[in-house]
Amino acid sequence: MLLSVVVPCYNEEDVLSDLAEKLFTVLGDEGPELEVVLVNDGSSDTTVSIMRRLSAQNDRIRYVSFSRNFGKESAMLAGLVYATGDAVVIMDADLQHPPELILDMLRLHEDGYDQVVARRTRTGDSMGRTFAAKMYYRAVNRLVDVDMQDGAGDFRLLSRRAVDALLQLGEYNRFSKGLFSWIGFPSATIDYENVSRQGGGASKWSLRRLVNYGIDGIMSFNNAPVRLAIYIGAAVMTLGLAYVLFLVIAAIVAGVVVPGYVTLVAAIIGLGGLQLMFLGVIGEYVGRIYYETKQRPHFLVAETESDRGPARTVNRTRDQKHRARPQSGGDFS
Ligand code: UDP
Ligand code: MG
Repeated sequence: MLLSVVVPCYNEEDVLSDLAEKLFTVLGDEGPELEVVLVNDGSSDTTVSIMRRLSAQNDRIRYVSFSRNFGKESAMLAGLVYATGDAVVIMDADLQHPPELILDMLRLHEDGYDQVVARRTRTGDSMGRTFAAKMYYRAVNRLVDVDMQDGAGDFRLLSRRAVDALLQLGEYNRFSKGLFSWIGFPSATIDYENVSRQGGGASKWSLRRLVNYGIDGIMSFNNAPVRLAIYIGAAVMTLGLAYVLFLVIAAIVAGVVVPGYVTLVAAIIGLGGLQLMFLGVIGEYVGRIYYETKQRPHFLVAETESDRGPARTVNRTRDQKHRARPQSGGDFS
């Protein structure tokens, strides 16, 4: 059996060598044959030269380097496209995902699970973030059609057929958390304690990015937000009609016509805001359609390990020649 470990890397010069070393000490000798696929997501530091060096030293380390930063989703996708293993593990470069866990994942994979998900417990996270995450997942699971778990991130093992299923989903706006859940297949979960980032530096997730990611999660999987517009619109209209009826009756019974300036202004501002908000929601969907119709590749590859020098003889259990090696992400499906 060949196991591929896919690692998306964006400015990870501090940790990359450590990670490779750790992977090989943990998985090197016993167990399945190992292939490490490093994906350089347009790093601005020396990440790519470290990848070149690592892959020159070790045949079992391969790399793909993007022409610019395409984002982690694209990097993971590229890793899945390039991985040739019978099972693929996706993990972060920053050693927040303990490599030792891969052994447990493999054990569960042997029991027949197609997806083995590592779910981090939130011990060590700030209370605010834990609470926000909890609320978010509660809301999302109510809104969208797929089931998403708090703490279950991208660190997971996928069987070959799960990977192939994922590669069939060619959408441009990729939201992996949802896609993993959408493909289904038997899956198992392993809990692990959160480790703080190694190699210094902060997480590359700013608050703004997190919020946008959250909106993506809701938008990617159905049209619930648009449906919400219909419900709220109907509710507001009913309330408005009831209020008008009340005013008319009040005028007839009491004979007073209330000067309703405040009501008027409140209604204009309230409804205007509501309309703008839902115009935004619709716009968001139209924008997504616009991007999908362009059919652009998910990433562009500038360099891979095969550009590095003469072909090497790699001892692989699986005949690789049958698997296409696209130069861009557009034609993987
Ligand atoms: N990453 C990437 N492209 C990006 C941002 C991040 O490939 O544009 C990679 C990064 O190198 C790391 C992983 O995605 O391996 C997770 O990033 P980070 O540790 O910043 O996120 P967090 O752990 O806070 O979710
Ligand atoms: Mg991290």
